[in-house]
Amino acid sequence: MEDLEQRLHHIQERITAACRRSGRDPEEVNVVAVTKYVSTDEMKRVMGLGIEHVGENRVQHAIPKFDELGDRGTWHFIGHLQTNKVKDVIGKFHYIHSLDRISLLKEIDKRGRQKDVRVPCFVQVNISGEESKYGLLPNQVMDFMREAGQKEHVNVIGLMTMAPIVDDPEETRPIFRELRQLKEKINQAHIPGIHLEHLSMGMSQDFEVAVEEGATFVRIGSVLFHP
Ligand SMILES: *Cc1c(COP(=O)(O)O)cnc(C)c1O
Repeated sequence: MEDLEQRLHHIQERITAACRRSGRDPEEVNVVAVTKYVSTDEMKRVMGLGIEHVGENRVQHAIPKFDELGDRGTWHFIGHLQTNKVKDVIGKFHYIHSLDRISLLKEIDKRGRQKDVRVPCFVQVNISGEESKYGLLPNQVMDFMREAGQKEHVNVIGLMTMAPIVDDPEETRPIFRELRQLKEKINQAHIPGIHLEHLSMGMSQDFEVAVEEGATFVRIGSVLFHP
């Protein structure tokens, strides 16, 4: 049984290999350790091993952890975000990965203004079109960006998606590729206030394919923590 340090090392080796295969620099790929499965102590351990980015998907579960460890690391909110919880997230989490509707955009802008911060956000896109998934449909994203580009306190830095659960991770490649192409298309449209740098894609089952397709943030929970 590998310990946490060995598992982290192994993940980093797999990312490096995926970068080598696709001609990328491993420095461009950030691992977000998804700590929703583990206690504050385990979070402390993983941060002690050099992990900078941590991700949580539930506000209620994250706040007690934040109260203990919030002075360390960079915090990513990766789950579905209810509008009435935005006030609890802004000022704590540095990044929001799940911006997926206009009402949420307006609320983040409003709370960002109150706290005098510009909040880095990923727009979540439902590339696969599965009904169970959150996110804008690809054909809604351009209009959304035009609106988002006008919000002073929202800084849209990239796109996020979740691929379907499949047996062979290779099947997720078209999803990740489409997200990358959508990012390029948006940048080519030169929308005022919008320039996308990042792709948040890839989880335990499929992060290598996501890296090969251009991920700059991979969100990894189960292969790291073995919940
Ligand atoms: C849980 C979660 C992850 C991590 O999933 P694993 O398969 O455990 O790596 C990534 N992204 C989101 C949005 C999650 O909720």
